[in-house]
Amino acid sequence: MERVIIIGSGPAGLTAAIYAARAALEPVVFAGYQYGGQLMYTTEVENYPGFPGGVLGPELMESFRTQAERFGAKIHNEDVTAVDFSKRPFTVWAGDARYESDTVIVATGASARWLDVPGEANLRGRGVSTCATCDGAFFKEKHIVVVGGGDSAMEEALFLTRFGSRVTVIHRRDTLRASKIMADRALAHHKIDFVWNSHVVACVGDNALSALELENLVTGERTTFPADALFIAIGHDPNTAIFAGQLDLDPTGYIVSTDGVHTNVPGVFVGGDVYDIRYKQAITAAGMGCKASLEAEKYLEELDAEREAGGALATAAS
Ligand code: NAP
Repeated sequence: MERVIIIGSGPAGLTAAIYAARAALEPVVFAGYQYGGQLMYTTEVENYPGFPGGVLGPELMESFRTQAERFGAKIHNEDVTAVDFSKRPFTVWAGDARYESDTVIVATGASARWLDVPGEANLRGRGVSTCATCDGAFFKEKHIVVVGGGDSAMEEALFLTRFGSRVTVIHRRDTLRASKIMADRALAHHKIDFVWNSHVVACVGDNALSALELENLVTGERTTFPADALFIAIGHDPNTAIFAGQLDLDPTGYIVSTDGVHTNVPGVFVGGDVYDIRYKQAITAAGMGCKASLEAEKYLEELDAEREAGGALATAAS
């Protein structure tokens, strides 16, 4: 029987683990086979406070992990395969192994969608990215391409104009999905141009991205489009499949919470990108993980007080 189980090992999950471990709750963290969250896919992180010279994403996550382990967090590199939050204690399965816990913190994050085209996986971190905030500054005075037609793509394109000599948005249709204000801003920007009705069919480059193979979806024509960087902004998917039917999810799959900490099940808390559709930053996720852990601690104190009172009542009655 555990006091706190944390599902996820990005900044939210591991910050929750550090706080819960320092509160002597000996949290069990299911880090997943691909532990560390989205920062494991980035190179230099320059906006995480405390690292004036920057830090590599994987190195930062290793530090989070070491810090959590130092205070007694038990970290399993396993995926949680099922949960039962309908009765207490809560049950969590990792394959055949079954665990029970008084509280659960859900910090499973969201995964950026990738294009899934040839060359993309090899060039990740070497010109191909899903995070302009993380990687944009590496492409000063370069030709940057953004794929997508939604608000994220417009936001990324506008942000990237700070760095690139030119930013090209490639969109599969001839109209944008983005809100009018964002679309108007991008359409009017002197550094941004658009390639319509087209999609990327391959990323080209040996050690770094050098070009994209494009296909025009109207004419079928294929062209080679030189580019130094590709930012993919075609949406994120929250990692919530195992919580369907257990926690309230919004229509896009994100966990519903009125305050970004509590879920609809008392004793089950949330933190990070699995809830946050707005900020999606390592530092905001870490802050949410901290809050989730403090709330779990408070919940456990109340639970213990109730149990003691129940025990005292039972003794008095006998
Ligand atoms: P989104 O609105 O779902 O847009 C995704 C875009 O990517 C769409 O234009 C879509 O094309 C395109 N796309 C999807 N799969 C693709 C593929 N395989 N290949 C090429 N293109 C593909 O996602 P989002 O932009 O991340 O926004 C998510 C939510 O957050 C939205 O509600 C948005 O308004 C909100 N948001 C708001 C702001 C802001 O207000 N500042 C900023 C970011 C996000 P189609 O258009 O053809 O479907």
